[in-house]
Amino acid sequence: MSPEIPAKADAVIVGGSIAGLAAAFALCRQGLTVACLERDATPMPEDHHAAWERWRRDGAGQTRHSHILLAPLVNSIKAELPDFFATLLASGAEVLTFRDIADNTFEAPEFEPDDDRIEFLACRRVVFEFLLRRHLLESLSVAEFTFMSGADVRRLRTVPDGNGQRVAGVTVKTPGGVADIDAGIVVDASGRNSRADRWLVAAGAEPAPREDHPCGIFYTSRFYRLRDGAVYPPLNGRQSLTGGVAGVDLGYVKAGVFRSDNRTFSITLAADPEDEPLRPIAREREFDVASRLIAASRPWVDEAVSTPISKVYLYGNLSNSRRRYFVDGRPLVAGLFAVGDASVHTNPLAGRGCALAWVSAFELADVLGDESDPVQRAAAFEARNERRIVPWYEYQVDRDREAIAVNKALQRGEDPFDFTRPDGSIDEDLYRRVILRKGLRFAAREDVRILRLLFRQVSLLDPPGATDEHADLAAVVLKGYERSKTEPEARPGRAEFIAALNGRVGTGG
Ligand SMILES: Cc1cc2nc3c(=O)[nH]c(=O)nc-3n(C[C@H](O)[C@H](O)[C@H](O)COP(=O)(O)OP(=O)(O)OC[C@H]3O[C@@H](n4cnc5c(N)ncnc54)[C@H](O)[C@@H]3O)c2cc1C
Repeated sequence: MSPEIPAKADAVIVGGSIAGLAAAFALCRQGLTVACLERDATPMPEDHHAAWERWRRDGAGQTRHSHILLAPLVNSIKAELPDFFATLLASGAEVLTFRDIADNTFEAPEFEPDDDRIEFLACRRVVFEFLLRRHLLESLSVAEFTFMSGADVRRLRTVPDGNGQRVAGVTVKTPGGVADIDAGIVVDASGRNSRADRWLVAAGAEPAPREDHPCGIFYTSRFYRLRDGAVYPPLNGRQSLTGGVAGVDLGYVKAGVFRSDNRTFSITLAADPEDEPLRPIAREREFDVASRLIAASRPWVDEAVSTPISKVYLYGNLSNSRRRYFVDGRPLVAGLFAVGDASVHTNPLAGRGCALAWVSAFELADVLGDESDPVQRAAAFEARNERRIVPWYEYQVDRDREAIAVNKALQRGEDPFDFTRPDGSIDEDLYRRVILRKGLRFAAREDVRILRLLFRQVSLLDPPGATDEHADLAAVVLKGYERSKTEPEARPGRAEFIAALNGRVGTGG
């Protein structure tokens, strides 16, 4: 049963998913009282197994999609919430490490001390969220933390403040009626479909400017459990697409295998929503055909190894998006902040959402601890987001633009990596990108330094683009590119893949 609605709190958090929970913890730790309001009315299940089976989290449509949880989140949980980390492990979550993956890849790799920080949490998202919420409910006092489910925030309440406005609280609708909560801080953690724009306009403020750039994919996920006696196929750097994820990018389809908790894993296939012949991969039969056809996923779906435990989930309409709550040097409304997907959402294939949400929640708490002036707080939070979050958004927009161009060229039957123009001249920019793309991938199979660079970047431990800046490794990358020319093309090709989906024979690669 949900607790009574508090009449006031230092901070109201709108949304009780990963970003909202991270913000709740971080703000409570700063000594603030927090009311976290979650629209979904579904009660907490008895344990994490039941959470997977029956917890409805319709407000976060990605709850049952493949997730990998990246290093900043794992490192922070270990340091800031050691009891929760112990709970995760005791509940069947696993930590995958760069060291293990490098050991599976090379004879005797040389490690560096900082390699310990390159780690991933393998845990179904619904299990992670359930355990996190339960941990906060059990470890924070009722005086400092209230979590209300079935609480739909309908309105932002503001009062005039100088030339602008500042937050006075929210109006919330619950099964018991409509109520006001007074708060000087409101944190929008209501996800990528945040309605903050409507609240701002209704409060007489400017709407938050929003940018959207297509990811160029729809995303499908299916979960599996290892059969008794079976073991996970090894992860090694020859296959890894996203750090701890075994995968392949075939250009027209991207496939990833995500290890999870309790002997489960999931497979994600992603393709262009406009590529009609590939849309059937969202159906069970075609998903299975595709998973068996792709070399990276084939050993995982072998009938002797695993059995499906879910249907195929589909998530469409994906874009990289960013909302700005700080415009022309001022907050739209003082005291209103956004964390997680409500602020920045990036292509889920890169697996950054939870980690970036976590980082921005902790940055917000630090800012609230350091600054008391509302405008200074807004400016300081904006500066931290610009440094730690926004570069990943901008990087992903560029990567997706490139990936979409590659995919569209493949659909037209062209070679997307042909950098020679019809007049014989070289497209220098494309040449550089092809060398990096192909060269890095091949070099990572042979040189632990390159594998480390890729993993550090994927893990958000180095800034985006850091892999391009190691002049001392340029020769290794170039050699990797030369070697890539002698390797057979990644298979299956698009035509072969589509034929197999349609029931005509395909052998895969
Ligand atoms: C298909 C897919 C795959 C992904 N894979 C990964 C991955 O591998 N790794 C990773 O780190 N991230 C991944 N992400 C992103 C990740 O799930 C999110 O970034 C993360 O959950 C943080 O989201 P959030 O808490 O900001 O928002 P959400 O999880 O979307 O939650 C928003 C919450 O706000 C509630 N809410 C909305 N409106 C109101 C309101 N008015 N009042 C009260 N409550 C409200 C909703 O019910 C919901 O619970 C993926 C995303 C997608 C779409």
